Amino acid sequence: MRLIMLGPPGAGKGTQAQRLAASRGLVQLSTGDMLRAAVAAGTPTGREAKAIMDAGRLVPDEIVVGIISERLDQPDVRNGFILDGFPRTLPQADALETLLAAKRVPLDVVILLEVDDDVLVQRVAGRYTCASCGEGYHDTLKVPAREGVCDRCGATTFKRRPDDNADTMRQRLQAYYKETSPLIGYYYAKRKLRIVDGMAEIDEVSRQIEAVVAGLPELQGAAE
Ligand code: AMP
Repeated sequence: MRLIMLGPPGAGKGTQAQRLAASRGLVQLSTGDMLRAAVAAGTPTGREAKAIMDAGRLVPDEIVVGIISERLDQPDVRNGFILDGFPRTLPQADALETLLAAKRVPLDVVILLEVDDDVLVQRVAGRYTCASCGEGYHDTLKVPAREGVCDRCGATTFKRRPDDNADTMRQRLQAYYKETSPLIGYYYAKRKLRIVDGMAEIDEVSRQIEAVVAGLPELQGAAE
């Protein structure tokens, strides 16, 4: 199964992609995570991307398409993947189509998570993750059961993304509406788009996504 998680920053794409990847045995492919890893490793790509990411703008298409193209050549994606944060522009969507056509694998569905803008800013400005296992938390919406201790792995060190602040968030939202939101029409026209209410509770959003996935023709065929 091959899916795209589409939606503005803070809509819950990463959280939901992580959950669906675990429940369906898929690989989560986040270009944001890949770029942050390149920044941390100090690679030439990372050095070029850092200032752009910190400013909340989009990294050039050729860089992210190159990263995804290499990643799709690795054997672990054969059983299926969830793209989280890619494509983000129409040229990226066209490049993805070319890559998938060359591999003769179809795209099954694009799930759009819809969330109001004021909620997005609130979600993003307070979020942080466990530095050890990556579990996500929020200053007010999801605090660890024991203050300062990760619920999942017990680690006590947490980190915040430098671009998760109100100023950069405004820039990221602008980039989303200007460059990424045209993808909604692009995938609607290809009859791939499904809309999920990203304002609901995390478990309810997961339930809606599972329902969409369960209704895909590929799985219906497999059940026959
Ligand atoms: P994310 O973790 O998906 O919120 O991405 C963080 C940042 O990485 C974005 O604000 C962009 O600067 C950059 N980025 C991630 N994915 C892409 C992409 N597909 N195209 C361009 N820039 C990207």
